Amino acid sequence: MELREFLDQTIEKNKPLIAQGHVATYIPELAKVNPNQLGAAIVNPDGTIISSGDCNVKFAIESISKTVVLALALLDNGEEEVFKHMHKEPSGDAFNSIIKLETEPDHLPRNPYINPGAIMTTSLIKGANKEEKFNRILTFMQKIAEDDTLDLATETYLSEKATGDINRALTYYMKGQGVFPADVNDTLDVYFKQCSINVTCISLAKIAGFFARGGVLSTGERVIPKRYAQIVTGLIATCGMYDQSGAFLDNIGVPGKSGVGGGILCPLSSKKIGIAVFGPAIDKEGNSTAGMGILKDLSIKMDYDMF
Ligand code: GLU
Repeated sequence: MELREFLDQTIEKNKPLIAQGHVATYIPELAKVNPNQLGAAIVNPDGTIISSGDCNVKFAIESISKTVVLALALLDNGEEEVFKHMHKEPSGDAFNSIIKLETEPDHLPRNPYINPGAIMTTSLIKGANKEEKFNRILTFMQKIAEDDTLDLATETYLSEKATGDINRALTYYMKGQGVFPADVNDTLDVYFKQCSINVTCISLAKIAGFFARGGVLSTGERVIPKRYAQIVTGLIATCGMYDQSGAFLDNIGVPGKSGVGGGILCPLSSKKIGIAVFGPAIDKEGNSTAGMGILKDLSIKMDYDMF
């Protein structure tokens, strides 16, 4: 069976899992999204794309932006500097938990993919002001997604900004402990905007392909050193699905980074393949229920193995 036909079938097969999740409601704009959408896309090593379902629907990238901003922060500052501000270990807590910030002796975030670590990463992006910092993130994301149409969803941004008090609490806590190196409100503004960039399943799969190829575009152009792509993908494997990361890697066998907009990005470096799914109904950890079902079927069918 053709892979395209398989994707069509597995999307249909996993539709019942939509009922096991709900669209995110803590960001009001996300609560308006139709939960019944489902899409999948695969980018081959040569850049060709196989896709099915709602793969051209625009949705908010949310936490998946954290991988792209980490890559840019590494380019801007180097590995040593970035990891003076955060650890590289799973947190075992929810993405917006404050617990470890208090209990860790140095009060630094456990990793760049939980919210405090991601906000810390955003604070390291270079730029004269918050507008320039966000524009650099957007331009970098467009480049590695090979998609100039990625843009800011203003309504989502305003919604995140209006309701982002837990993110404010996390950031002020770090500032109060003397470990946050930048202005809290300016950094949060950039963070809310980066989470509100609209992507499609296809553009996400292209970003996954970029990381899977070790930081090289489908044209062969190298954008980041291979080492930085390794850091981004290694942390996706260990921390990408929050406190479901271990079970996800065990069940599905590919690294995944989820977002509460319903996307999951999977860079499969061993095969230089980029995969993405989109299903806005998410579970209590924040991960797409039907999206994970599709990835499991795909992984079994293709015998994907990250090692
Ligand atoms: N913008 C969301 C937040 O900060 C991202 C969370 C996620 O996608 O997991 O809460």
